[in-house]
Parts: sequence; C-alpha cells; structure tokens
Amino acid sequence: MKKFTCLFALFVILFFCTGEQEKDKSNLIQPEKWYSVHPRPIYSSLEKIGTFQSWFDVYKITEDTYAIYEPNQFEEAISYLALGNDKAALIDTGTGIGNIKAVTQELTDLPVTVILTHEHYDHVAGAYRFDEIIMYDNEQALQVLKKGRNNTSLQQYITEDYLWKPLPQDFDPTSWIIPSMEPTQLVKDGDLIDLGERAFEVIYTPGHCPGQMCLLDQKNRILFTGDHFFPGPLYAYPPDVNIEDYRASNQKLVQRLDEFDHLCSGHNSPWVKSDVLPRVSDAFDAIFSGEGEYSQDNGLRRYHFDGFDILIREDML
Ligand SMILES: [Zn+2]
Repeated sequence: MKKFTCLFALFVILFFCTGEQEKDKSNLIQPEKWYSVHPRPIYSSLEKIGTFQSWFDVYKITEDTYAIYEPNQFEEAISYLALGNDKAALIDTGTGIGNIKAVTQELTDLPVTVILTHEHYDHVAGAYRFDEIIMYDNEQALQVLKKGRNNTSLQQYITEDYLWKPLPQDFDPTSWIIPSMEPTQLVKDGDLIDLGERAFEVIYTPGHCPGQMCLLDQKNRILFTGDHFFPGPLYAYPPDVNIEDYRASNQKLVQRLDEFDHLCSGHNSPWVKSDVLPRVSDAFDAIFSGEGEYSQDNGLRRYHFDGFDILIREDML
C-alpha cells in the first residue's frame, strides 16, 4: 500500500512537471526560444571590441561609430556611440540594465551628449546617468520621460521569458527604476546636431510613437533609425502607434534614400542596407490592400516580409 502511494505521488509530480514544461509560452510578439536566433549572423562580419560588464557587446561600425548591443535580453537593444571632433553622442541608452555610461568612458574621453530617438523604456533607461539629453520636441514624449518608470512596472522585462543569460552582477533588480528626466535640449525636424566635423540632421518620423526621430549622419551616409525600422517585428500595434504617420514617415525616408547607404537600427542588427525602406512602404501598402501573409493570434496579426515583419492589430486595418 505504501509503495503504491509513493508511486502515485511520483506520477502526480511527473504529470505536473511535464505539464509545466510543455506549457506553450509562444505568441506572436515573443516566440518560444526567441534566443535561438543567437548569434545573429551579421555580428560575425563586424569588428568586436569586447564585452563589458558581461552585458554589453561593443562593435566598431565605422572609424567613429560604436554599436553598444544588449544581446541577453529579449529587446536586444542597440545604442550607438558616435564620435565627433569636439564631442561624442550616445544615441539611445538601452534598457538601463548595466552601466552604459561606464562603457562610453571606456571608449572615448570626449564629453558625451545623449540623443534619444524616442521615449520608450528600452531607449531612455540609461539616460539619467548623463548631464546632457537631447530629445524631439513633442509633448507626449516629454511627458513619458518626465513620468519615468517605477520598479514594479519594469519587472516584466526581466522575467525568465525575457532573459537567456544572467543579469550583470552589479545590477540590483529590486531597485531598478527609470527616474523622471527632462531633456536639456529639444530639437525639431531639420535641426542639425553638431559634434565637430560631424553633424546629424534630425528627421522627424512619428508613427512608432509620437517622439520618434531618425538621425542622418551625412558624413558616413548612415541613418540612425531608432525604432522606425529594425530587422525584426516592427511594432505597429501599441496604443501610441499612429499607422498613417508611420507610413508617411517611411515615405519621407524613402524620398531621401540617395543620402544614406546603411541603417543603424535600434534592435537586433546595427548594420542594415537602406534599400529595405522601400520594401517597408510596399509592405504597408500590401497590408492595407488586404494582401500579405500573416500569422494571427488574439486580434493581432504578424505579417511576414523579406527582412522584417509587421505586427498590427486587426482593428487598425
Ligand atoms: Zn525599442
């Protein structure tokens, strides 16, 4: 009888353990085993400078541009350190996991100004470590930055679903916040941000969110895109997305394609050929004319295209 009870208990334990393991965590936004894409092939063709704090992988993109990549968390955020003659710009500041300022100090002695491509947490979280912050002059974006994020709201980004490597040793998840911030300089469409012998033109590209801008580096023929484009699922579904703005912004960039060859994007890959942008316009056209292949789940569609996907809500179509 005792033996039977033990066997029964073992059966119950095995049943529930297996059930837990087989629980399907996949969805359209975050596929199960999303980390199986690592290492992404593009990185083997780039010059790796090193790994910092066991969290940031740094690659040299041009003579005066570094990509600071966070491959261990689902967002795969990429920030860029761009060197001019007089100062450097840190374009976006990542998730705030790890000390990105310490990384920039390893790479340059120049004073560093932060430029935020937009207001989302995975781009602004490390900005509070710097004295100078430039952002687009958009009231909604400024309010997001001013509000900051408390620890509770950030916990969702460091669950085991979001991480496939340990957090850095010095990072304390229980005190992780994004403090309230105010930019020290606001910019508008067409403004130039001068680093000395290197300047970025601000190109306002709302759509992904109200404060989204791109930066045109004329010297290197690079466009820093923030989240307007990255080679992955473009988020066209959250409440702060304006799909008509998104399409118009992409057309605006397509009209200037002769001014840049590569995109330095906010996620996944720091080096993307710019000829993908006309395909993004074609993709939006296809979606809104009822074409395009997609997967569907719970009112959300993930359309599949060559080099990127588009995530969009059915009620937006
Ligand atoms: Zn992002």
